[in-house]
Amino acid sequence: MATYLTHLECSACGRQFSAEAIQTFCPDCTSPLLARYDLVQARRQLKREQFQGRARGMWRWEEMLPVVDPGNQVSLGEGDTPLLRLPNFERKLGLSQLYIKDESSNPTGSFKARGLAAAISKAKELGVQKVIIPTAGNAGGAMAAYAARAGMAALVFMPADTPRANLEECRITGAEVVLVEGLISDAARMAAERALSEGWFDLSTFKEPYRVEGKKILGYELAEAFAWRLPEVIIYPTGGGTGLVGMWKAFTELEELGWLASSEKPRMVAVQAAGCAPLVKAYQAGADQCEFWQEAHTIASGLRVPKSFADRLILADLHASQGTALSVSDAEIVHAQHLLGRMEGIFSAPEGAATVAALQKLVEQKWIQPAERVVLFNTASGLKYLDAHGAG
Ligand SMILES: *Cc1c(COP(=O)(O)O)cnc(C)c1O
Ligand SMILES: [Zn+2]
Repeated sequence: MATYLTHLECSACGRQFSAEAIQTFCPDCTSPLLARYDLVQARRQLKREQFQGRARGMWRWEEMLPVVDPGNQVSLGEGDTPLLRLPNFERKLGLSQLYIKDESSNPTGSFKARGLAAAISKAKELGVQKVIIPTAGNAGGAMAAYAARAGMAALVFMPADTPRANLEECRITGAEVVLVEGLISDAARMAAERALSEGWFDLSTFKEPYRVEGKKILGYELAEAFAWRLPEVIIYPTGGGTGLVGMWKAFTELEELGWLASSEKPRMVAVQAAGCAPLVKAYQAGADQCEFWQEAHTIASGLRVPKSFADRLILADLHASQGTALSVSDAEIVHAQHLLGRMEGIFSAPEGAATVAALQKLVEQKWIQPAERVVLFNTASGLKYLDAHGAG
């Protein structure tokens, strides 16, 4: 047995669910379920150093991932992406330690690979044979790839104006694709109907419990890379919020495991696009959930999520971390994308560029101090957006 997984728990009402059966979300309060591990045993039996020597990739943390039989781990080489210093930006902004976690080298060119690797692996273990997903783009491509690898049928619903690369990567890996006139929220409604009528397992963000577990490993990789002293600020481009919620979950687990050298945790920053900023609006209003964002539009397709299913969790984590939420315009994103390319040689996705634009604002506002260690995220390769405006 690889994992210390014990059960699932509703993030809102605390009700417990078996992890040995297929689960979706809490039927009582329509909230996401989170995986729970026997961290007391794990603390006794595991040492943080033992993970360093293992074969590279997300699955080196298999004890903290949900798959029981390692033979069910479906991998395309996800995880252990580079954490790059940005020396030219450090000089420009007067910062002493600025990093970018460059997720573009993941399979399918985006960090969605992490979550879908975990979710497809667990679905395989539980006997699922057909999977369905509504997507703003990259999640569909990642699901299609991992489903192919696991021998599952795949059905993807995506807005018709999703970048071309996302459509092609789904088709080439054998998924059926339905193009939807509308947004991911419309795609989600249609996918839910098909799931119900034809028995597909729905891998929508937070409507199954394990994508967030794959994303969580971002937090483990960062902790290890920073010698178990977490950075002061993490700036994350937030759509559905799996990465943000996942990293915060990782930091809580790491604390319970006794692996952190300091109890200081990062301030988490959620960056959204000005044309779709439901979390920013809710955060500024002091609300504990989001309103649906009407007429969402942005070139950062991964951020075009009018209301996350995990909005309460994201907002709670932002507060718990004493973080913040802010939006950047598409023009600022394009400008930042060019700067990052010219100054550091990174051709980022617009979502990644959004974190650079947000950083500039937070430094100007003195919300970030010169001595603080800051981590940005490039969540996908710019090459996936070549037919979109963002790639300029
Ligand atoms: C999905 C996506 C995001 C948003 O990630 P969440 O964890 O859902 O908030 C950001 N960037 C890219 C490139 C994405 O595909
Ligand atoms: Zn509940």
